[in-house]
Amino acid sequence: MAVKVKQQQKEAADALKAKGITPCLAVVIVGEDPASKVYVAGKIRDCGEVGIESREYALPEATTQEELLALVEKLNADDTVSGILVQLPLPKHLDEKAIINTIAPNKDVDAFHPANVGRIMIGDYDFLPCTPAGVMELLKEYEIDPTGKECVVVGRSNIVGKPQAMLLLHQNGTVTVCHSRTKDLKEVTLRADILVVAIGRGEFITGDMIKEGAVVIDVGMNRNSAGKLVGDVEFSSAEKKASYITPVPGGVGPMTRAILMKNTVKAAELNAK
Ligand code: NDP
Repeated sequence: MAVKVKQQQKEAADALKAKGITPCLAVVIVGEDPASKVYVAGKIRDCGEVGIESREYALPEATTQEELLALVEKLNADDTVSGILVQLPLPKHLDEKAIINTIAPNKDVDAFHPANVGRIMIGDYDFLPCTPAGVMELLKEYEIDPTGKECVVVGRSNIVGKPQAMLLLHQNGTVTVCHSRTKDLKEVTLRADILVVAIGRGEFITGDMIKEGAVVIDVGMNRNSAGKLVGDVEFSSAEKKASYITPVPGGVGPMTRAILMKNTVKAAELNAK
């Protein structure tokens, strides 16, 4: 499925290049976080596959706020750069919010800038955040229409849970958002026809919390005590209840990366106008 989206983006990128427009993604990483390095390497590799130019800016841990802001401003002003991605989390001494707010909204391929967040709220957007948009693509591909369905999103982060809830609402789902203060989580998840879980707790949602026949989308990526990559859903018990379920690894992760490519091609297209 992610392969299909990437193939479509390759065709779109080729068409743009034929018109003299080269999509280009600038990826900024600060410090030595191993997981971030793996994610960035994956994004650069995806760009290569899709035919998007990529520029990696690997800055030392000691980079100051002023230096990082100056780089973002330079990339904003560079007409050869279509999209800018600053890999999160940033080292503690840097102000993530200020950095995100500095990325030009028309190059904000993660869709984290407040202007883009606001546009998502009213349903008039150019970019969607990669993970929730990837989830919606998966639903579409499997012809799962949220209209009228009980949709439960577990997790309310700005990058996954909240925009996910909004996108399901735009698609006419009846949406409930749960979080760490939800009183009886199981009572809510058992109502879900479509359950999206993004909490960052390995195998937390078990089969007994899932309604028979539900569609289960597992966004989580966690390492268990044996170092194995697991989702937020316990796959073995959940798959006995679910009609559809996304695996970890696989499933949402590759789609998230594919949507980044889609957003970058779109940015190149929009910025050329
Ligand atoms: P955050 O840590 O930002 O947010 C976690 C959310 O889960 C919070 O809203 C928190 O509630 C809620 N939560 C935590 N514990 C519970 C609980 N016991 N019951 C109910 N809700 C709970 O995480 P992210 O949204 O950034 O990421 C979530 C997961 O998705 C992580 O595993 C992350 O690695 C993964 N991820 C995967 C991506 C992919 O490409 N596949 C992309 C992005 C993230 P509260 O607000 O009350 O604290």
